[in-house]
Amino acid sequence: MNQPHQLTDDTFPALQALLERWGEPAYRARQLWEWLYVHLATDVDGMTNLPAALRRRLAVETVIGVPQVVDTTVSSDGETRKDLLRLADGETIEVVLMRYERRRTACISTQVGCAVGCPFCATGQMGFRRHLSSGEIVAQVLHVARILRAENARLTNVVLMGMGEPLLNYENSVAAIRRLIHPDGFNLGQRHITLSTVGILPGIERLAEEGLQITLAVSLHAATDHLRDQIVPINRRYPLDSLFGACYRYVERTGRRISFEWVLIEGVNDTPEQAQALAARLVGLLAHVNLIPLNPTSRYTGRSPAQDSLTAFVAALERHHVPYTLRLRRGIEIRAGCGQLRQPTL
Ligand code: SAH
Ligand code: SF4
Repeated sequence: MNQPHQLTDDTFPALQALLERWGEPAYRARQLWEWLYVHLATDVDGMTNLPAALRRRLAVETVIGVPQVVDTTVSSDGETRKDLLRLADGETIEVVLMRYERRRTACISTQVGCAVGCPFCATGQMGFRRHLSSGEIVAQVLHVARILRAENARLTNVVLMGMGEPLLNYENSVAAIRRLIHPDGFNLGQRHITLSTVGILPGIERLAEEGLQITLAVSLHAATDHLRDQIVPINRRYPLDSLFGACYRYVERTGRRISFEWVLIEGVNDTPEQAQALAARLVGLLAHVNLIPLNPTSRYTGRSPAQDSLTAFVAALERHHVPYTLRLRRGIEIRAGCGQLRQPTL
């Protein structure tokens, strides 16, 4: 099927080139860019400083790429909202808005499904369907920003932690980030963006060379190859020594601290031995650990740890002076928590 040209798929130079081909003066590109990324326009009719003929042509030959919302779920405290969005080809993805005291964060997807297949993750359980385009990634952020604007609030943070593995859709994920940080457009602070990866080594190495100041999160979940092979299957391809080699080089190159995600699963990776192995791996590395008690998904029987094993795990980290945060549980009742995002029919 031939999809119409989606404007959020264009970089600023691409938009300039398009309008130049159409015989428009150079300043039009900036005007259109501002409509898209500053005013968050949803249709071309309202772009009042563009001539009517140009608006008509844009309306005929392009789409802005405003996602269609097919379902909205809000947590009982009103702080977390999950929207199911339908894409032009009928595939659906989920995007989550989380409101904290001082932050408002959009958790966005980079693929429909995921090929990596971590057993505890609902997205992994559905398998891989397709990559999202950079415009489809960007459009999720604009969607959340519009929701917040209606409440006179601003989006402060973006996390690429929804459905999919961003470093297996490398070009589009990085292009989306570059579009969002564009100073004349959406102008999101780089330090307010986090990209979470399961540990795709070539992707981490490439990202280190991008000159970006975003935060890299690595989903570790186990600190020995024997255990990680079981719960994060990609570990067989990129084992821990090589993964950590890439992490050290990443910190060296960017000066940025890495966040390590650790989904705590009762009786699997919540032992003091794993905590100690984790501490040993992190020696000399600028790092922070995010502990996430496992959220339930339909096809995984593991559970989140009992309080006493959680306390023992955390105590072991403290003994080794590992900086960590126990992540607040968010959106579990509406299946908007980490690893719970998926297509409704699957
Ligand atoms: N593919 C990337 C980003 C999406 S997953 C990655 O794996 O990092 C985002 C985070 O949710 C990851 O840290 C992932 O391990 C975590 N996650 C997956 N399933 C989960 C579950 N059932 N409970 C809690 N966190 C989960
Ligand atoms: Fe994919 Fe991340 Fe889920 Fe693993 S945890 S299956 S890499 S989305």
